[in-house]
Amino acid sequence: MTTIHNLGFPRIGAKRELKFALESYWKGETSRNELKSLGTTLRKHHWEAQSGLNLVPVGDFSFYDQVLDMSFTLGNLPERVRDFHGDALDNYFRVARGRSAQSAEEHAACCGGVAAGEMTKWFDTNYHYIVPEFNANTEFKLDTSRLLEHLAEARAQDVKAKPVIIGPVTYLALGKAKDDSDKLALLPRLLPVYAQLLEILAAQDIDWVQVDEPILVTELDNKWQEAFKTAYDYFKNVKVKLLLATYFGQLLENRELVASLPVAGLHIDAINGREDIQPLLNLLPAEKVLSLGVINGRNIWKTDINAVLDWVEPLAQQLGDRLWIAPSCSLLHVPVDLDSEQRLDGEVKSWLAFAMQKLDELKILAAALRNGRASVKQALDANQAAIEARGNSHRVNNPAVKAALGELNAALGQRKSPYAQRAPKQAASLKLPLYPTTTIGSFPQTPDIRQARSQFKAGTLDETGYKAAMQDEIARSVREQEALGLDVLVHGEAERNDMVEYFGEQLEGYAFSQYGWVQSYGSRCVKPPILFGDISRPRPMTVEWIKYAQSLTSKPMKGMLTGPVTILNWSFVRDDQPRSVSCYQLALAIRAEVLDLEKAGVHVIQIDEAALREGLPLRKSQWKEYLDWAVESFRITANGVEDETQIHTHMCYSEFNDIIASIADMDADVITIETSRSDMELLDAFDNFNYPNEIGPGVYDIHSPNIPSQEHIVQLMKKAAERIPAERLWVNPDCGLKTRQWTEAIPALTNMVAAAKTLRA
Ligand code: GLN
Ligand code: ZN
Repeated sequence: MTTIHNLGFPRIGAKRELKFALESYWKGETSRNELKSLGTTLRKHHWEAQSGLNLVPVGDFSFYDQVLDMSFTLGNLPERVRDFHGDALDNYFRVARGRSAQSAEEHAACCGGVAAGEMTKWFDTNYHYIVPEFNANTEFKLDTSRLLEHLAEARAQDVKAKPVIIGPVTYLALGKAKDDSDKLALLPRLLPVYAQLLEILAAQDIDWVQVDEPILVTELDNKWQEAFKTAYDYFKNVKVKLLLATYFGQLLENRELVASLPVAGLHIDAINGREDIQPLLNLLPAEKVLSLGVINGRNIWKTDINAVLDWVEPLAQQLGDRLWIAPSCSLLHVPVDLDSEQRLDGEVKSWLAFAMQKLDELKILAAALRNGRASVKQALDANQAAIEARGNSHRVNNPAVKAALGELNAALGQRKSPYAQRAPKQAASLKLPLYPTTTIGSFPQTPDIRQARSQFKAGTLDETGYKAAMQDEIARSVREQEALGLDVLVHGEAERNDMVEYFGEQLEGYAFSQYGWVQSYGSRCVKPPILFGDISRPRPMTVEWIKYAQSLTSKPMKGMLTGPVTILNWSFVRDDQPRSVSCYQLALAIRAEVLDLEKAGVHVIQIDEAALREGLPLRKSQWKEYLDWAVESFRITANGVEDETQIHTHMCYSEFNDIIASIADMDADVITIETSRSDMELLDAFDNFNYPNEIGPGVYDIHSPNIPSQEHIVQLMKKAAERIPAERLWVNPDCGLKTRQWTEAIPALTNMVAAAKTLRA
C-alpha cells in the first residue's frame, strides 16, 4: 500500500494568527504563556488538518525559523547570547531579532541588546532563515526540549508522527564560519550530537525521521560529497529509519551519492527533479523506500491528478509498499486554505489549491493508487474538469498577446544608439550638474496615505476624493524635493501599496487573494499576486500621476515602474508555460507603459529590478539561461525609447561580482544600487569589470533611522570615485524611503544634497 505523508505544514495560521501573536508578545501586550499556548493550538489544528496521512511531520512548527530551531536543538547559540538567564524562548527571539525597536527601551536594562543573527534566503524561495554561526571552537550540545514537547503533544493527539530535522551536512553548508575557519572540520563534533538525537527519538518509539538535506540539489565539491558519506555512515546503526529528503531541484551528478547513502528511504522533488527518478530507480538498492514529491509545494495550482497517476501507477506496480507520495517540499511555501478566500474571482479560484487542498489531492491520489481510479471517480472527474477549464479559458489564453510574443525580436531590446552617443544628448537636454542627486522612488507612506488608499478600496472614498488625496501627497513630495535641492525628482509612489501588486492590479492576467499569505521571515508574510493568464495592459498605469507631478516642477521628473523580472519573481506564476514566456509578456506590457510615459514628456524613466538576482537558479550551470531571458526581458521593456530619454534601473542588493556582465548588458543609462552598508565594498566588482554606464552607489542605509552625516557621504562617494569616473556617478540613498518618516528623510537628504555640493566644489 502506498504511504502518503507530508514534509511540513505552514505554521503562520490560516489568518496569520502566529504573526499577530508574535508581534503582540514582542510589544509586551501579551504574556509568554499566551504565545506558547497559541503555538500549541496551531500545532493541534495543523495536525488535525493532516489527519488521513500515514505520516505527519512533527517539529516543523516554529516560532520564528526552522534553521534557528535546529541551532537551538544542537546547542549552537552565538557566543553573545550564551550567558542569558531568562526564558529560552526570549533568548531565541534575541538571536532572531537582536534588540527589537519596540523592546529596546523596556528591555535595555534587563537583557540588553545583541546583534541579530544574519538572515538569508532559503534556497531559491522567498523564505529567509537565520544563518547558523560557527567558528573553529564551536561545540554542540543536544537540547531536545522543543522536539520532545511537540512529540508529546502529537502523541496525545494520536498523530502518526514523523519528526523533521535539518540534516547535518545541509546545516553546516547553510551556516557561516565567522572566523573563516573550515566549517566541515566541525562535522566530527556534530555527528555524535545528531546520533544522540536520533537515539532519543528511537527511544520514543519513533519509526521514521525525516532528515532534510536539500543542499543535495546544488553543486557539491568532493569535500562536501565526502561529508555526506561520513555523516550517513555514522548513522548507519541508529534505531530509527531515516528518510533523507531533498527538494527544490534536481540531484543530477549527486544521484549516485544519494542512492549509495545507507538510509532507509529517500524523498525527491518529482516536480523539479522528475528526470532523477528513472536513473535513481536503477541505482537504488532493492529495499529502499522512494518517496516522490508529486504535488507542487511551491505553487498554488491544482494538480492534474490523472496526469500524475499516468506516470506514477506503473511505479506503484513496480515498487509496491516502497513507493511513498507527498508534496514536493514543505507546504511552508504556499498559503494555508483556499476556502478562506471569499472575494477571489470564482473562475480563477476553481483552478487553485492551497496547502489544505493539496493534502486533499494527496488523499485522492493515494485512494486511486490503492483501490483504483474508479474508487475516486467523482473526485477525479471534478479535478479533470477544473484542469480542462483552466486550459481552455479565454482569460488564460489571449491570442493577441500570443501573436505579439511571436513577433519578439532582438531589435526590440536595442537602443537606437550606444551609451556613448546617448549620454551627451541626455546631458544636453537634462542639464544636470556633476554628481546629480536623486532618490529611489518612494517617499514616506504616512498614515493619511494608507487610510485614503484603504478607504478607496473599501468604497468609502470616491475616485475624486482619492485622486485629490494622492495629488496632495505628490505635491507635498515635489515641494519637499525642490526645497531640498534634489536634481531629478520623483512623485513619491503614494498610490502604491506594493511595487508589484500595484501593477498586477492593473494588468489583465493577474488575480489577488485575500489570505494568500506566505511566511517570508519571522512574523513577516507576503501575499504574492497570482499570474494566471496571458498578460496585457488595458490602459496606462502610471502616466496620469507622473504627468501631474511633472506639471508641478521644472526639474526632470522620473517615471517609476517595476520591471518584468521583479514582477515575475514576486508572483505565483503559471505552470503551463515557461517562466521566460510569462516574463516576456510582462516585458511587452511594461514597455508600452515606458513608451506612453515618454510620449507624455517624461524623459527620465526608472524601471526597478529589485528581484532580478532572486531568480537565479540554484545551480550555477543554469544561471546563463536565466540571465539571458531575464536581461532580454528588461531590454525589451526599456530600450524602445529615444536617445534623449534616460533609463534608470534600481537593484537593492549588494552582490554584483558574479552577474555584473549581465547587468551591464541591460544597458540602462543609470543604475542605482545598495552599497552603503558594505562601505562601497561592492564596488570591488567594478575593479575587474569596466562598467560602461552611469552608477548611483547608495550612500545611506534606508533601513535604519540614523541620519548619515555629510562627511560620511562625501567619504563614501570619494571611495566610489576611485573606481568610477566622477562624470558617471550619481548620489542617492540605497533604496526607497517608504518605511521612513519625513522627519528622518528630510535631514538625511539635506546632508546628501550638501555632500553632493561639496563634491562638486
Ligand atoms: N521604487 C521603489 C521604492 O522606492 C524601489 C523599491 C525596491 O527597490 N525594493 O520604493
Ligand atoms: Zn531597493
